[in-house]
Formats: sequence, structure tokens, C-alpha cells
Amino acid sequence: MNTTQVNFDVIIVGGGLAGLSSAIHLSKAKLSVLLIEKNSYPKHKVCGEYISNEVLPYLDFLDLDVFKLGAKKINKFQLSTTKGKLISAPLPLGGFGISRFCLDEALANKAIENAVVILQDSAEDIQFLNDEFSVETKKTRVLRLE
Ligand SMILES: Cc1cc2nc3c(=O)[nH]c(=O)nc-3n(C[C@H](O)[C@H](O)[C@H](O)COP(=O)(O)OP(=O)(O)OC[C@H]3O[C@@H](n4cnc5c(N)ncnc54)[C@H](O)[C@@H]3O)c2cc1C
Repeated sequence: MNTTQVNFDVIIVGGGLAGLSSAIHLSKAKLSVLLIEKNSYPKHKVCGEYISNEVLPYLDFLDLDVFKLGAKKINKFQLSTTKGKLISAPLPLGGFGISRFCLDEALANKAIENAVVILQDSAEDIQFLNDEFSVETKKTRVLRLE
């Protein structure tokens, strides 16, 4: 099996919201990051696509302005019955709507801008032996991290 020794501080498996935001956060702390994502960007994801305003300060820390990406502010909740009756309530904290297609791609671009290396591959096994991590991917490489 082909083995590749990699020299990164961190390997992240999965480039969704958690993996991408962690990669950007760690890169801002000057850590070198390899992110392994099985799909390519941009990619669709089943999601309600509502995000609470609580996360805006964190997105700001990640240098991501979702409103420049087309996010729409949401401050009202409305529930409709099957007969069309509506129940409405204000959302005091509020949030915004943005497609995952757009958000994940913007986070991936920001990660790349911050020198995160994104490898399009599927992680199949992760081992920790003798103080060393190894990640086996579908393309039969073993990436090692001391
Ligand atoms: C139907 C539905 C609606 C939702 N609506 C909302 C909502 O409106 N608002 C909200 O805030 N949250 C919503 N969520 C929750 C939200 O989608 C998750 O909290 C969020 O996606 C979790 O992020 P994550 O990075 O942990 O996982 P994901 O976003 O799922 O990312 C995981 C990533 O890992 C990759 N991956 C998986 N296995 C491997 C592997 N072996 N090797 C390499 N890559 C791999 C996948 O391709 C994927 O890109 C919803 C979830 C569902 C299912």
C-alpha cells in the first residue's frame, strides 16, 4: 500500500459545517490543517437552512459575512395547518436563511484562502499506534501524523 507521510498539525475528516469551521479556526491559530472531504464543493445538503443569529459573532471571527453571500434575515415564525390556518410568532433573537450549497462552499473557499489543504477523498480507517495517527483513505493512501 502506498504510504504518504504528511506534515500537518491537524487532520480533519469531513468538510461540513463542523470540519470547515474548525479548519478555519485552527488555521487562524497558525496551525497547518489537512481536511479530508469525500465530496467536492459546491455540494447540496438536505437542511432547513435556518441559522440562529447567535452564531453571527463566531462567523465574524471566521471572517465570513453571510449577508454578502445573500443570506436573508428571518425574524418571524409561521406555522401553517393543512387547512391553511396560520399561527405566527415573532422570533426575538432571530436568524437568517442561507443555502448549504452556498455556505459550505464559502467556508471551503475561506479555508483554502487560509492555507488549509482540502483533499477530496474518503477516510476509511483511523488508527492511533505508537504515538502516531494514520488515516487510510479510499484512494489507498495512508496519511500519517506524528
Ligand atoms: C433534514 C435536516 C434539516 C436540518 N436543518 C437545520 C437547520 O435548519 N438549521 C441548522 O442549524 N441545522 C440544521 N440541521 C442540522 C445540520 O445539518 C447539522 O447540524 C450540520 O450539518 C452538522 O455539521 P457537521 O459538519 O457535523 O456534519 P455535516 O454537515 O453532515 O458534514 C459532514 C461532512 O463529512 C463528510 N464525510 C462523511 N464521512 C466522510 C469520510 N469517511 N471521509 C471524508 N468525508 C466524509 C460528508 O461528505 C460531509 O461533508 C438539519 C439536519 C437535517 C438532517
